[in-house]
Amino acid sequence: MAPPSPAVLVLGPDSSGRSLVIDGGNVVSFGDRPAEPDGAERIDAADCRIEPGGVNAHTHIYSGLAPLGMPPPQPPPENFLQILERVWWRLDLALDREALRASARYYVAESLLAGTTTLIDHHESPRFIEGSLDVLADACEELGMRAALCFGATERNDGREEARRGLAECERFIRDNQSEGVVGLVGLHASFTVSDDTIRAAGDLCRRLGAKMHVHVAEDGCDVEDARRRGFDGPLERLFELGGLPRGSLLAHGVHLNAEQVRRVADAGCWLMQNPRSNHGNGVGYPPALAASERVAMGTDGYPSELEVEAAYLHQQAAEHGEPAAAVEARIAGGHTLAGELFGGEFAPLAPGSVGDVVVRDHRRVRQVVVGGRRVVEDARLVSADLDEIHAEAREQAPRLWERMASL
Ligand SMILES: [Zn+2]
Repeated sequence: MAPPSPAVLVLGPDSSGRSLVIDGGNVVSFGDRPAEPDGAERIDAADCRIEPGGVNAHTHIYSGLAPLGMPPPQPPPENFLQILERVWWRLDLALDREALRASARYYVAESLLAGTTTLIDHHESPRFIEGSLDVLADACEELGMRAALCFGATERNDGREEARRGLAECERFIRDNQSEGVVGLVGLHASFTVSDDTIRAAGDLCRRLGAKMHVHVAEDGCDVEDARRRGFDGPLERLFELGGLPRGSLLAHGVHLNAEQVRRVADAGCWLMQNPRSNHGNGVGYPPALAASERVAMGTDGYPSELEVEAAYLHQQAAEHGEPAAAVEARIAGGHTLAGELFGGEFAPLAPGSVGDVVVRDHRRVRQVVVGGRRVVEDARLVSADLDEIHAEAREQAPRLWERMASL
C-alpha cells in the first residue's frame, strides 16, 4: 500500500512566533508571517519549538525487542567479544521473519514518538537473510520512517557462503527497493569477521551499484589485533587496501583509531559514527581522535532511538575527556549532513527548500512529527499505525525470541 501523499501543512506559530509551511514534502517557508496556501492543514505549536527531525546515524533495528525483558546473559560477559557472543550474536541468530517484523515495528514506532525521523540501520539475522531488508523497509514505509538499510555480511557462522548471501541480500534490496523514503547500502559486519575476498567482493558491489558501505571499524581493540594478525596496520587500512571503502562510506565507532586515521577517513569523504552509550556500556573506551574530523555523526547502536538522551550522555562523556561542547554540538548536528548525502536535500537548518522532516516539541515531550510532509505523530500519538497492536505483537514475539536464544 502506498503511503498517503503529503499534504500542505502549516506548523505554528511556535514559542518564538515562527510558522513553518510544508508543501510537496519540502519546507516552502519558515518565518513570522508565512503565506498560507489554501486548504492547508494547521498544526498547533504553541509553547513549542519547531526543529529538524532527528537522525540516528547508526543503529540496529533488530534489537528492538531487547527492552521487553531480554534475560541477562549467563555467565555474565567480561569483555567486548563475550558481549557479542553471549548477547547480540545469539539474538540475531534467533531472529525469524515474525520476530524481526515485531522488532522493527516496535523500534520504528518508539523512534518516531521520540522525534527520530531517520534511522541509518545496520542489520543482521543470519538464519533469515533473504528478504530480511524488505521486512525492515516495510515497517519503515508503513510507519513513515526515513531509513538507510543494509545487511551486515559476515562469515562468523557459516563462512564465505554466509557472507555471499549477505551481500546478495544488499544487492537484491538496492536493485528492487521501491519503499518511499528508504535507501539501500552495502554492509559488512566488521573487518574481524570477514575474509579479504569478502571485503573485495563488497567493495566491487558498491562500485557496480554506486552504493556506499556501512561497517563497524575499530570498535574494540580485538578488531585492530585481528587485522594486524592478517598482516595489515589495522582494520581501517585493511578495508581501504582491499577496496572496501568507496567515497561516502559509513564507519561506525572508530574508538581505536588515532587522529591521523580519522583524518584519512574524512579525506576519503567517509563518515564516522560515535555511539556514546554503547561504547561506554561495552567498555570499549572513549574515541578522543574523532575530534580530528568534522564528518562525525551520532548514533545509538541499538539503544532506543532517544537522541536527546544520547546527546546528553555524549556531552557528559565528552566533557570528561576534555572535548569542547561546541565540537559535540557539531557532531550531533552531523547526522543532518549525512542524511543529506544519503537521501538528497538539506535536512537542517529548516529553511525554504529543505526536507520536510520536522519535530515539534515542548519542554516535556515530542508533540508532532512530520516526515517528508507526512504526519506520523499528532499530539504525541502515533497516527501512521496502531501503537497498541504494535505493542501486542512485540509482547507476543519477545518471549518466543528469548526461548530460541536460550536453546542456541
Ligand atoms: Zn553497531
